[in-house]
Amino acid sequence: MIRMTTAITPPATLGVLGGGQLGRMFAQAAQSMGYAVWVLDPDVNSPAGQLANRHICAAYDDKAALQLLADNCAGVTTEFENVPADVLLWLGERVAVAPSGDAVAIAQNRVVEKTFIEQGGVAVAPYVVLDSPEALRAAQARVDLFPAILKTARMGYDGKGQVTVHAAADLAGAWQSLNNVDCVLEQRLPLAFEVSALLARGWDGAVAHYALAQNVHRGGILHTSSVPAPSADAALVERAQTAAAKIAQTMGYVGVLCVEFFILTDGSLVVNEVAPRPHNSGHYTMNACLTSQFEQQVRALTGLPLGATHQTSPCVMLNILGDAWFDAQQNPRAPDWTGVLSEVDSFVHLYGKAEPKPARKMGHVNFVGKRLEKAALRCEAAMRVLGLQGGVND
Ligand code: ATP
Ligand code: MG
Repeated sequence: MIRMTTAITPPATLGVLGGGQLGRMFAQAAQSMGYAVWVLDPDVNSPAGQLANRHICAAYDDKAALQLLADNCAGVTTEFENVPADVLLWLGERVAVAPSGDAVAIAQNRVVEKTFIEQGGVAVAPYVVLDSPEALRAAQARVDLFPAILKTARMGYDGKGQVTVHAAADLAGAWQSLNNVDCVLEQRLPLAFEVSALLARGWDGAVAHYALAQNVHRGGILHTSSVPAPSADAALVERAQTAAAKIAQTMGYVGVLCVEFFILTDGSLVVNEVAPRPHNSGHYTMNACLTSQFEQQVRALTGLPLGATHQTSPCVMLNILGDAWFDAQQNPRAPDWTGVLSEVDSFVHLYGKAEPKPARKMGHVNFVGKRLEKAALRCEAAMRVLGLQGGVND
């Protein structure tokens, strides 16, 4: 593996695997620092490809495309964990790659990920692996796990590849509905709330923590993040950050890492999953921290000093899904961005996706305020402007 000896400085070229919104915001941060950015993504019209200095439109395992990246980029990162880990390992023999293929391999398989986290002494939800008819029978006997959630071991995101299983009798059918691919069956835990710990770790092992975000999901998709987490006391922040740093250190991780936690009704802390990249719950950093998570990803990859993670204002981040482009009768409509921005201290970020679809992440809005309550009121006013139901916390 290539080790970082001297920092990669502008105007070098950086590569990113994946052209989604995370790749786009990485490219924007890198370009604003003077780097050129090449994006590899098979979609001709991807959010990051649109503004890349060069978009290589090819499959992630296309050898010629990867060779082109290796020949032209000084460093390569990834925007999602489902890129084949051997692609990152192959690139890592040729250029600086962060996070490494080994780290991504852990995060892309829930079974490997849970085993790894548990070995580090951090709790995960009680679970069993479902990978054979014998394992199915053994899982059916684990009545303590029900009601449970069945999750595909690989390729899950935004609640996709998950089914709730109320009782053991429903398990075989639920597994069948996921085509009997390898899964984990997880006990559905009594959640008090959810938080995520975002950090960056450099090649030299330096760690920079961001404030803890408190996350509300709707239908398995992140709805809002409120930062600093209003329900977390200082002791909880400390526990979560210590656990996240330990995971990063054990992985030998370089880059931006996010650890999602469940806080149970009895106060215990359980790791849900790990994202080896910037995270949706870290989008608030774009308007409320000295260094955004995307600039931090650039700095970590290139071996520059990590930026200060100090939060400049409390912030609520609202995810904007494609649903905002349809009224209650499902007729198309244009969201009223002028109305949203008439809330002072609100910041709109849209990802350049041509087709709004329900449940598709189209953008986000950050609301800052002197106090978190103020930011939340601004967010709820904007939700009304956009015709979105409910509030920040539901
Ligand atoms: P993403 O990649 O968007 O984070 P995902 O598809 O990987 O999502 P998870 O993070 O596993 O999905 O789950 C999404 C949400 O579903 C969690 O944030 C939580 O609200 C709920 N959830 C998942 N597992 C459990 C569980 N064991 N007990 C209670 N709630 C759960
Ligand atoms: Mg998740």
